[in-house]
Amino acid sequence: MDYSKLVDHDLHIHTYLSGCSDDPEQNPLRILRYAEENGLRHICTADHYWDETVSEPWLPYIDHGNERQARILPLPQSENVTFHFGCETELSKEMVLGLHPDNYDKFDFIIIPTTHLHFMPFTVDPKDNSTERRAELYISRLDGVLDMDLPFHKVGIAHLACNLLAPGVNYPAEVDHKEHLRVLDLIPDAAYREVYSKMARRGVGFEINFPYFGYYEKDELERVLRIHRIAKDCGCKFYFGSDAHHPDKLDTAKANFTAIAEALDLFEENMFRPFGDK
Ligand SMILES: [Zn+2]
Ligand SMILES: [Zn+2]
Repeated sequence: MDYSKLVDHDLHIHTYLSGCSDDPEQNPLRILRYAEENGLRHICTADHYWDETVSEPWLPYIDHGNERQARILPLPQSENVTFHFGCETELSKEMVLGLHPDNYDKFDFIIIPTTHLHFMPFTVDPKDNSTERRAELYISRLDGVLDMDLPFHKVGIAHLACNLLAPGVNYPAEVDHKEHLRVLDLIPDAAYREVYSKMARRGVGFEINFPYFGYYEKDELERVLRIHRIAKDCGCKFYFGSDAHHPDKLDTAKANFTAIAEALDLFEENMFRPFGDK
C-alpha cells in the first residue's frame, strides 16, 4: 500500500494574513508551488477569523474580520491544483462560534479549533484551568459544536491532539510538549467513543495534524495514535491539515502525513472529501 497516495490535499494552511504568520514568504503562489511539488490536488487557506457580525471579537482577533479575510482573493489556480478559500474561526468559552450563518457560503471550507485552550481567558477560565478541567473541555467543546446547526459536509475540527490543549507554565515563551498528552490520557476510551461517533454521524472532518516525527519516545507517539485509532474505529473521516504558518512546515508536511496514514493504516474509505471527488 502506497500511503502517500492518500496525501493529495492539505486543508489547513495559513497565509501571511494570519497575524501569527505575518510572513511574506507564506503567500498564495508559494503555497500553490508546495501543492504542485507534492502532487496535491486540493489545498485550502485557513486564516484566523472572527466574523464581526457575530459579536465584537476578543482583542487579539480585532483585525481578523471579513474585510481582512477577503484580501487574499482571488487565489491562484493551476491545472492540477484547486486552491480553496477557507477560514479557521474561533469558539469562545461561552460556546459562541465566530462565524455567522449568513457567511457560511463565503467559505469553501470551515475549520473549527475546539482545542485552542492556550487562549485564556477566551476559551478557558484561568480560575479553573487544571489538566482535569482541560480534559472535560476537550469533550464538552467538541460535543457542543456537534450540536450546532453547521454545514458539516464542509467543516473540519482542527488538530484534536495538539499541544495547545495545555500550553504549560512557560507559555507563551514555550509550549509544553508533554502536558497535552496528560490531557488526552485523562479521557477514557468510552468518552472518546461517544463524541467521535457523533462526529462520524454528523459527517464532519477529523483533522490529522500532529508531528509524527516530533514525539521522541515511543510511548508518546502511541498515546497520540490511540485517540486517532478510536476515531477511525468510530467511523470518523480524516483530512490532512499542516497548519503551516511558514514555508518550512509546508516542505515537511507530506512526509509527516504519509507516516501517519501508514501508522493508522488508512484507506480511501477513511478519508473526508469535502470537495466531492477524490
Ligand atoms: Zn489552530
Ligand atoms: Zn491554524
